Amino acid sequence: MPVLVQKFGGTSVHGPERIRAVARRIAEARAAGHALVVVVSAMGDTTDELIALAHRVSPTPSRREMDMLLSTGERVSMALTAMALDDLGVEAISFTGSQSGILTDDSHSHARILAVRPERIRAALDQGKVVIVAGFQGVSPATKEITTLGRGGSDTTAVALAAALAPARCEIFTDVDGVFTADPRVVPAARIVPRLPFTLCAALAHSGGRVLHARCVDLAARERVPLTVRSAFEDHPGTHIVPDDEEGSVEQARVVAIAHQGDVSVLIAEGNAGGVAEARGIVENVHEAFPALQLVAHEQATATHGALVWTGARDDAEQLKARFREVRGPGGEWTLAVEHGAAFVSLIGLGLGAPEAVRAVRALEQAGVALVALRTTPSAMIVRVAGEACEAATRALHAEFLEGA
Ligand code: ADP
Ligand code: ASP
Ligand code: MG
Repeated sequence: MPVLVQKFGGTSVHGPERIRAVARRIAEARAAGHALVVVVSAMGDTTDELIALAHRVSPTPSRREMDMLLSTGERVSMALTAMALDDLGVEAISFTGSQSGILTDDSHSHARILAVRPERIRAALDQGKVVIVAGFQGVSPATKEITTLGRGGSDTTAVALAAALAPARCEIFTDVDGVFTADPRVVPAARIVPRLPFTLCAALAHSGGRVLHARCVDLAARERVPLTVRSAFEDHPGTHIVPDDEEGSVEQARVVAIAHQGDVSVLIAEGNAGGVAEARGIVENVHEAFPALQLVAHEQATATHGALVWTGARDDAEQLKARFREVRGPGGEWTLAVEHGAAFVSLIGLGLGAPEAVRAVRALEQAGVALVALRTTPSAMIVRVAGEACEAATRALHAEFLEGA
């Protein structure tokens, strides 16, 4: 019997009532004859609350202990979901990421999955049980430590399990009906996208469309896992993520969605006597210490003058600023400048070029939004604006490219 992996996000399991409702939905899928693996996130804002709690105890908690703490959020949900299923007469068993065989590298707070060995899951499925898995976590076989996969990582747990239990499909249940042409909380005119090719879905997720963890889309594309995003509350068919060449996909359209990322910190390191080798060392050290920071550019204007640019969360940016001397290591003359509160708004689509850039800049001008920078990738055109203009820019670009005729 092919396996169905269902994932329920934080809002969907927020509190006893919703956990019981999720259990009823799982029981229906079980009654329909599916072999079921269910991945759950921590309830509501639990992860944020645990982070805040840690900072009330210690200003600089170690990443190992943060992973020990944060992995508990998902464990609470998994046990409660299994209990609710028990009460409905559905045999269920909960497993942590480590018990599920999710093996990761040793990068605390940002671990990558190296392999999945789902022996215990298979054995439980063979006994007819529904398996509930704590999302967002695994174990490093090298260090034997518990790791977490980065914020929003339960989606990636679900897709990784579907890939390991192939042939399996994966349904991501969340608090909206599917993937929309923009975040429906910011753009009231946003519409659901019924079918979205993997490449564009990945571009959307990497550009801030947080409805899916970006790494889960990359993994689903690579492992050919059929992926659907649906509402945990409504009976809506949702969005099917389809192979790029599948007939009926929206690949032909030029712009399929607008993604936005507000409150981004931009970090620029400049080396006046630093050659490429020095820059490489800094990139390596920064990645080691702050894996969530994204290196977006390395420009080597001359043999000695280099510039490195990262984007990321304010907290990481502030910490790197405070520790830059130590992290960058000896040698060279490097300085680090940090700007907070930047926003990036992206047109997601294929074949975007000068005509779309002209339309985008004009639409922003008409909305009174000042453009700071614009760059193009094969599947996105990314505009930088001031943080406070983020939502206005998102609505203006949605109106220009996705509303009307
Ligand atoms: P979950 O807890 O289920 O993982 P998330 O909060 O991570 O849920 O993701 C769902 C949220 O993503 C939605 O509530 C919505 O505000 C936001 N979102 C951002 N961009 C989009 C988009 N293009 N389509 C749908 N939702 C989006
Ligand atoms: N609970 C984790 C987070 O809030 C993981 C997840 O929800 O996917 O980031
Ligand atoms: Mg999420």
